[in-house]
Amino acid sequence: MELTIPDVKVALGMRPPNWRQILLAFPSVDEKKGVYFAWDGTIFSPSGVQPPVDVIVHESIHFGQQDGDPAGWWDKYIEDRAFRLEEEVEAYRGQLWYIREVYGRKTARKARQDIAKVLSGPLYRLPLTKAQALNLLT
Ligand SMILES: [Zn+2]
Repeated sequence: MELTIPDVKVALGMRPPNWRQILLAFPSVDEKKGVYFAWDGTIFSPSGVQPPVDVIVHESIHFGQQDGDPAGWWDKYIEDRAFRLEEEVEAYRGQLWYIREVYGRKTARKARQDIAKVLSGPLYRLPLTKAQALNLLT
């Protein structure tokens, strides 16, 4: 299988244009390390941490979902929990696919556990258990 790493811009130490809107909805993301924001072809990393390639794959899926309207996508993402879950499941599945292809099944199994924990954790504010998240990521 062929892997194409998308050509994206990474804005290290910078906040996305809708930072205030994001902070109001997700207060826990403030300067947190390893949290990234997709905005129309640019990955913002407010903490300044370089995103690993599997995260670039994840954020690139969000670029496709935004389809040239990042502001509209973010509005819906913040207001609509079901939509947020759908978009994240798609992005995380792509990320896991990449991890499996590049690092193998063992690493992907571990990553799936870690991702299920994050997806069902406080960050995304979704009514989801880790077991439910694991099922969605299978
Ligand atoms: Zn995401």
